[in-house]
Amino acid sequence: MTDDMWDAVIVGGGPAGLSAALWLARYRRRTLVVDDGRPRNEAAWAVHGYPGLPDPTPDELRSRLEEQATAAGAVLDHCRVERVTGSKDDFTLEAGAARQPRARRIILAYGRRDRVPTLPGLRDFYGTSVFHCPDCDGPSVAGCNVSVLGHDTAAASLALYLLTWARRTTMVTNGRDAELEPEAQRVLEHEGVSIRTERVEALQGEAGQLSGLALEGGAALATQALFFHWGTAPASTLGQRSGCECDEGGDIEVDRRTMATSVPGIHAAGDIVGHPHLAITAAAQGVHAALAVHRSLLPPAWEL
Ligand SMILES: Cc1cc2nc3c(=O)[nH]c(=O)nc-3n(C[C@H](O)[C@H](O)[C@H](O)COP(=O)(O)OP(=O)(O)OC[C@H]3O[C@@H](n4cnc5c(N)ncnc54)[C@H](O)[C@@H]3O)c2cc1C
Repeated sequence: MTDDMWDAVIVGGGPAGLSAALWLARYRRRTLVVDDGRPRNEAAWAVHGYPGLPDPTPDELRSRLEEQATAAGAVLDHCRVERVTGSKDDFTLEAGAARQPRARRIILAYGRRDRVPTLPGLRDFYGTSVFHCPDCDGPSVAGCNVSVLGHDTAAASLALYLLTWARRTTMVTNGRDAELEPEAQRVLEHEGVSIRTERVEALQGEAGQLSGLALEGGAALATQALFFHWGTAPASTLGQRSGCECDEGGDIEVDRRTMATSVPGIHAAGDIVGHPHLAITAAAQGVHAALAVHRSLLPPAWEL
């Protein structure tokens, strides 16, 4: 990586950043992607629902996107961007002591990270039979007994949503009282969703496939998948620190057509701009950002 002026530097080499890089390179823009190699979905066994690519591993999808973007002319560098200074047409990115690329435009595509519960053994199953996203992994639990970790309305909603695929769902509160209005309890009962309030002592299964939960007091709950939704946090605070307006959850606010942030010259795409958190959505937003960046670099007579 050189410290020359790039047309665009993209922070993050996931589906959003690499799709933006591909399209900027197609417009013959000097494009650098800086990525520190911690994709959100690295634990997942497959990326589901990406049209045209049936269930690639996260690595495979990333490799394909990288190959396509670099073949078109984008350059990739593996390090972490710590700071952005400057303004539109002359930004400087601090990416380690010896690395300070300059850029006319920036696309932030650094994603989010999941808050994962600390149940004993959960990490052995995370991404293969412990999931957080029903839209991504719901179809893979069709016909199964599925548990949802949680004690409140959000967990109840997830348990009901998963009935789209699951044979049966159970709310597992892990030692807490269920905090549900009587009406919510009535709906759960009507839909056959049961509630277990015992503490979870262990996850059972092998080779990443869950078979049951060992509950306090000796009971076992047969379950082939466990879902939770404990939220996410931005993978970096670069957007906030660069002055981009963000909502209370840390999502960067953007114009949905151009993916422009509140800071002139900085665009953002992917999980960091809000739901839905899907690889294909991230990729599409990256393309939107790339088109807008390219057009913003054309001579002034060009109207957006
Ligand atoms: C377990 C799991 C399973 C999933 N399954 C599916 C699925 O089946 N189908 C689906 O469509 N979606 C799935 N998702 C969601 C999907 O992974 C995300 O929507 C998608 O990866 C978002 O892409 P992105 O480019 O915005 O961010 P990411 O893919 O997270 O990429 C962001 C990149 O930016 C890098 N980065 C962060 N900060 C910096 C920095 N300061 N400097 C340099 N680089 C930085 C990170 O290391 C990372 O490589 C799943 C997610 C998880 C957690």
